[in-house]
Amino acid sequence: MGIEGVNSRIADIQSRILALQGQQAATTTSRARTETPGQATFASHLQSAVASTGAPDKSYKLNSKGVPEDLAAYGNGKIPPEALGRVGDTRHQLWAPAAEKLNRMIEDAKRDGVKIGITDSYRPYAEQVDLVRRKGLYSQGGLAAKPGTSEHGWGMATDLDLNSEALSWMRKNAKNYGFVENVPRESWHWAFRPPS
Ligand SMILES: [Zn+2]
Repeated sequence: MGIEGVNSRIADIQSRILALQGQQAATTTSRARTETPGQATFASHLQSAVASTGAPDKSYKLNSKGVPEDLAAYGNGKIPPEALGRVGDTRHQLWAPAAEKLNRMIEDAKRDGVKIGITDSYRPYAEQVDLVRRKGLYSQGGLAAKPGTSEHGWGMATDLDLNSEALSWMRKNAKNYGFVENVPRESWHWAFRPPS
């Protein structure tokens, strides 16, 4: 998120603290004052306000292709296991920050009664080569990216199993989690755009 997002979160936290302090003033005056509101109380209000809004998103330095520089240094399709995160209890993995957002999105959709399934995720280089063999190059009417250029090779794209309800949920909400529908002819393919 940009600085505006951070500022609005800070404003939100400040207003929560004020509200909590107001509540506390009301309750402490209605009974004997046994505790002194001070820094400790402020800290605990701040902590609970932060916990309920989530920590501000880290932002990333992106290269000209929109790939975080740290990630790009590994090479497409060569991301080490420690930089990857698991999607739910599936075998699927994405770049860890993308996995975290996807997991949150799947949970939130579930709460809305919408099921988001996953069919593909991080794709190591050898699998990208194999996919071209099986599905053809996208540039030639197929469905596979040139090996070494796939967003899947960065762990920054996922293929989802979406019914029409889930697809409209995604088109409305996915951007809030950093996911965008960015390939024509592939409404299942959603790429992660890290905050920069
Ligand atoms: Zn895909």
